[in-house]
This record gives sequence, structure tokens and C-alpha cells, in this order.
Amino acid sequence: MDFRLSEEQEALRESVRDFAREVVAPAIAEHYEQHTFPYEIVRQMGKMGLFGLPFPEEHGGMGGDYFALCLALEELARVDSSVAITLEAAISLGAMPIYRFGSDEQKARWLPKLLSGEALAGFGLTEPGTGSDAGGTQTRAVLDGDEWVINGSKAFITNSGTDITALVTVTAVTGTKPDGSKELSTIIVPSGTPGFNVAPGYSKVGWTASDTHELTFDDCRVPAENLLGERGRGFAQFLRILDEGRIAIAALAVGLAQGCVDESIRYAKEREAFGQPIGAYQAIQFKIADMEMKAHTARLAYYDAAARMLAGEPFKRQAAIAKLHASTIAVDNAREATQIHGGYGFMNEYPVARFWRDSKILEIGEGTSEVQRMVIARDLGM
Ligand SMILES: Cc1cc2nc3c(=O)[nH]c(=O)nc-3n(C[C@H](O)[C@H](O)[C@H](O)COP(=O)(O)OP(=O)(O)OC[C@H]3O[C@@H](n4cnc5c(N)ncnc54)[C@H](O)[C@@H]3O)c2cc1C
Repeated sequence: MDFRLSEEQEALRESVRDFAREVVAPAIAEHYEQHTFPYEIVRQMGKMGLFGLPFPEEHGGMGGDYFALCLALEELARVDSSVAITLEAAISLGAMPIYRFGSDEQKARWLPKLLSGEALAGFGLTEPGTGSDAGGTQTRAVLDGDEWVINGSKAFITNSGTDITALVTVTAVTGTKPDGSKELSTIIVPSGTPGFNVAPGYSKVGWTASDTHELTFDDCRVPAENLLGERGRGFAQFLRILDEGRIAIAALAVGLAQGCVDESIRYAKEREAFGQPIGAYQAIQFKIADMEMKAHTARLAYYDAAARMLAGEPFKRQAAIAKLHASTIAVDNAREATQIHGGYGFMNEYPVARFWRDSKILEIGEGTSEVQRMVIARDLGM
């Protein structure tokens, strides 16, 4: 077993680290404060090929794998999570469903622009009345001739309302199965389709430079061929997408946790109290040692889940463990990093304040911590 990175993986990590420090760090605080979407940063990420990382070259991708995406997310989140979640959602929730389940025509139409970062896509699963219990979906799509007519609403959908959003894939009830349960299917809704309405962005606690909206569908008509994959496979499709996505969110959480270590070391060496740098006190050193331990073990957990996934082995439990552990320790590290910064840690101008505000959502998005425990327990036969 070897967890060391290859030369190519190290090179990717280095280039994303440099980009995060040189391009993201100087610009992001203002976007965060103003709640504006960082189009210029996203454009540059597109030029670097980040949006195409885990996709084959034939579709315009970079020919890498899902682990490469995780490495990039970790390095971005080490500096800023709004940018990292924009990339994570664009790939794992936006382009991946089309790549995994789309027809040749759908792939040819959408993937080149999504993989170049020229356009973004969202994934509309959560609804105002139901999140964890995704089987409770109320949005309906009815086939009328050669069109789907969609009615309903979706909540908290990332990347759904930017100037470059091209589409949202929406889960909807399309009928009733023979056993009486809901038939769920996934349908592509291009931006600008009449009846597809995007509400103004939410006012969020964290991830404030990322794009999140409530969406409503009022007799929204799209061609029948916009069905993604087979009718009735919606449930299986989003479970697969979420299992993978959890590894990516774990990587993002590890990045945030590691960023907390970076900032804490820097500050502890500079800040003096009682005649010496606070980093000279063992109480502070132990906090930082614990933070490093947590980031390291959470990293190993997501490496393991990614390795299993790429080997084609079952990875559901390991992805849930990685996401649960990484999000928990990200919150721990953000709390401790803020503590080490004292009053300055409560000031928005310090990166740790952003880390603190950005950490909590990691225990909620793409499956709450309770849902991860349910997944793990079920996989253990309970
Ligand atoms: C910034 C942001 C971005 C997001 N982006 C997207 C996106 O792009 N696409 C998308 O589809 N969704 C997105 N979401 C939605 C997110 O995935 C959901 O918020 C999350 O899955 C939880 O659903 P909920 O908010 O409805 O909470 P609920 O499901 O209502 O849960 C409320 C609480 O009850 C707990 N709970 C629920 N059921 C059980 C149970 N059986 N046992 C024990 N506890 C339980 C939950 O763990 C939680 O603590 C986003 C959310 C946010 C905040």
C-alpha cells in the first residue's frame, strides 16, 4: 500500500497550490465580503483545465481521474472554499451526470463547454420540503406529446444562476412504479427555458462567493429527449452521483482543515503574549498538533475511498466515512484556528474567519452527518 503521490499528481497539486496562493488568495476576500461570484477566477480555472480534470480527452477533458479532482479541490479549499465548491459542484454535480448517464448527443452538446469551464451546470435534487429524504421529491414531470412539462421547485442549487450557467439537471417524479413507489427520473433543463425561474441568490453564512439559488418550474417545457439516461433510474443515478461527490467534499474539507493548520502556524509564530510568541506555549503547539493529526487522518480516509472507487470496488461506506470524518474535523480545526487567532479570528479580514464560516456547511451538504451515519450503518447490515 503506497499513499505517496506520483510525479504527475505532485505536479498537479503544486500548480493548483500556486494558483490558489497567487490568484485566489489576493482576490477572494472582496468577493466574499460583497457576495459576488468570482468570474475571473473561474475563467482562469477553466484555462488551467481544472473543469475537465476527471474526464477523457475525447469529450474535451484532461484525461485525469476523480482522485486528480480531489487533489485540486484540497489545494483550492486550503485557501478558499467558495472557489473549491464552485469547481466541485460544476464537475461532480454538473458535468458528471451528463458524462455518466447522458446520450451521445447530450454529451456532444454539453460536455465541451462544461469541461472547458466556459459554462456551468447545476444538479437540482433538494426541494424546499425535502432534502435528506430525497425519495420525498414532489417536483413532477409529465410527458405531453414530445415534451416534458415540469412543475415544482428546488432549493439550495449550486451554480444554478450564474451568467454562464447553461443548464440544471432536475430530478422529478415521472410516474408510479408497479409497487406503488414514485418513479423518479432526471431531466436536463437548459437555462432560459420559459417557466424555469431562478430566484435571487440566498444570503448565506459561508461560501458567500459561490452561487446558490432556489428554482421554480411553472409548466416548464423541455423536449422529451432531454431525459437523462433511462426513465425511472433517477434514484439510482443520484445515489451514484452523491457517493462520488462525498469523496470530493471530503477532499474539500481536508483542504479547509489543512488551511487552518497553515494559518495557525503562521499566526502563532508572529503573535506575542506574555513576552514570547504564542507558538512557544505548549497549549498552542498541542492544538496545532491535533489539527495536523486530524487533517492527515481525514486525508487518508478520502485517499482510501477514491482508490476503491477507481479500482471499481464498492466504496459507498468508505466515501461516507471520509465525508463524515473530514467534515467533522474541518469544523474542529476551524474552531481551534479561530481560537488561536484570538479576537482577530473573529474579524472577516482574516482567512480563518472565512474558514470558520465555511466549515459548518460541510456537515450538511451532499448528505448530512446523520445521513452518512445511516449509510455506514446500513452498509454494516443494520
Ligand atoms: C450552500 C448549499 C448548497 C447546496 N447545493 C445543493 C445542490 O447543488 N444540489 C442539491 O440538490 N442540493 C444542494 N444543497 C442541499 C443539501 O444537500 C441539503 O441541505 C442537505 O442534503 C440536507 O437537506 P435539508 O436541508 O432538507 O435538511 P433535512 O433533510 O430537512 O434535515 C434536517 C435535519 O434532520 C436530520 N435528519 C433527517 N432525516 C433524518 C433521519 N432519518 N435520522 C436522523 N436525522 C435525520 C438531518 O441530518 C438534519 O440534521 C445545498 C445546500 C446548501 C446549504
